[in-house]
Amino acid sequence: MRLLEVRNLVKKYGNHLAVDNLSFQIEKGKIYGFLGPNGAGKSTTMNIITGYIASTEGEVIIDGHNILEEPEKAKKCIGYLPEQPPLYFDMTVLEYLKFAAELKKIPKEKRDSMMEEVMELVKIQDVKGRLIKNLSKGYRQRVGLAQAILGYPELIILDEPTVGLDPKQIIEIRDLIKGLKEKHTVILSSHILSEVSAVCDYVLILSHGKLVAGDTPENLSKLAYGEKTLSLEIKGEREKILSAVGSLETVEKTEEVPSETESVVSLKLTSSEDQDIREEVFYKMAEIKCPILRMDMTRLSLEDIFLELTEDKEPEVQEKKRKFFMNRKEKKENKEEENNAGDL
Ligand code: ADP
Ligand code: MG
Repeated sequence: MRLLEVRNLVKKYGNHLAVDNLSFQIEKGKIYGFLGPNGAGKSTTMNIITGYIASTEGEVIIDGHNILEEPEKAKKCIGYLPEQPPLYFDMTVLEYLKFAAELKKIPKEKRDSMMEEVMELVKIQDVKGRLIKNLSKGYRQRVGLAQAILGYPELIILDEPTVGLDPKQIIEIRDLIKGLKEKHTVILSSHILSEVSAVCDYVLILSHGKLVAGDTPENLSKLAYGEKTLSLEIKGEREKILSAVGSLETVEKTEEVPSETESVVSLKLTSSEDQDIREEVFYKMAEIKCPILRMDMTRLSLEDIFLELTEDKEPEVQEKKRKFFMNRKEKKENKEEENNAGDL
């Protein structure tokens, strides 16, 4: 079941494009991760989805309700923990949650029991009488989380929920978030790859306001590890070597690297995941009598893919990378479909 649909979202701050034509869908009962470096547009996107700020263009539909046309109904489905939790430092935890419950219009007769349940869930029972300003950062974050969960909205959105916490607190908050999946759908943001792969069922990688990849952590790893690059130095005539390499069907991409020595051609070849092209390249070069002086194979890690996709580069280079990655994904999916069809 589809819970959230984001269509062609654009946000401009003056001339600056913070969100660049973003579209994606969220299904019920999963944990989604927005992954991207600082400035990628994660908070802006979350602020738009939750109705905190307006988009320049595009639509947000939550459980069938457009956030602009039916804001009350749409917002009722969402609990939000913004990057800066909206805490009132001079309130006690209990006072604050009561206040949040009133804002969320939770019926009076349900309020007390629900607050108790939520405090139990995020383990803040023992500090409920304390002033928020006297709590540690970890506890404050839990109070913020309690506020987001209150009212049991379908969709819980958490902006960098573990930022600034110590390792022990991070593990506790992560476990808490994982537990939410039983009853809720969660979207969280993070600039840390390991965090997103540890917690999320599905990862959306953002860079410069654009979606550059979206898949399960397992599939992203498969894609990443599937990527093999062969670096070569071959002695001989450039045209002859390039045309021989070009005749190899197993080579997906050929990139020429500037060579330091004349009469030596430096190449980077990319092959698809299940092919080891080393032998083939060897025999081909032997055939045209161009000796290989050096050959190494490298694999990209998930970290490499993330960096490749999000590093600051010229927009054209970025776009090329994005297309290359998406193409690989499509090819892989088609292949899987073929394989599955074969099983039937
Ligand atoms: P992230 O949460 O991924 O770090 P943000 O959504 O906060 O990214 O920011 C995306 C881009 O938009 C950044 O370049 C940031 O500087 C810019 N930005 C965010 N908020 C504002 C604002 N209120 N006014 C102008 N620029 C903004
Ligand atoms: Mg942010």
